[in-house]
Amino acid sequence: MIDGSDNFSTRYLANDACVRLGLPPMVYGAVQGFDGQVSVFWPAREGGRCYRCLFPEPPPPEFAPNCAEAGVLGVLPGVIGLLQATEAIKLIRGIGESLSGTLLQFDALGMRFKRLRLLRDPACPRCGDGVKTHDYVDLPAACGVG
Ligand SMILES: [Zn+2]
Repeated sequence: MIDGSDNFSTRYLANDACVRLGLPPMVYGAVQGFDGQVSVFWPAREGGRCYRCLFPEPPPPEFAPNCAEAGVLGVLPGVIGLLQATEAIKLIRGIGESLSGTLLQFDALGMRFKRLRLLRDPACPRCGDGVKTHDYVDLPAACGVG
């Protein structure tokens, strides 16, 4: 699954579906302002992480402006989208080293990439140890969207 969503409701729903259905990895990408992020979340894999391991709950609406409100450098979705496509091709072909377990951050102003290691959160509300229900949450209400 390639996450090209532009809102938290869709992104959390996609993540939760991947966990619930044991789907293949979710290739995540996000942009805001002059920054972007890319990762691969693969909860069905042994020791795999999901998006909620990093961001357990959606932020309150006042802290989560969409791109139209916050603005984004016009070329940034292209840069991040190409990185996501590269990850998807590698996963489909079974070649190279995926970003699973890492978060690639891109700073367009400084033209810098930084790669951070991600750990599975055993207390994750979706894929954590002992989580028994994988029911979907009413995310539009949780995210303050109609
Ligand atoms: Zn998780």
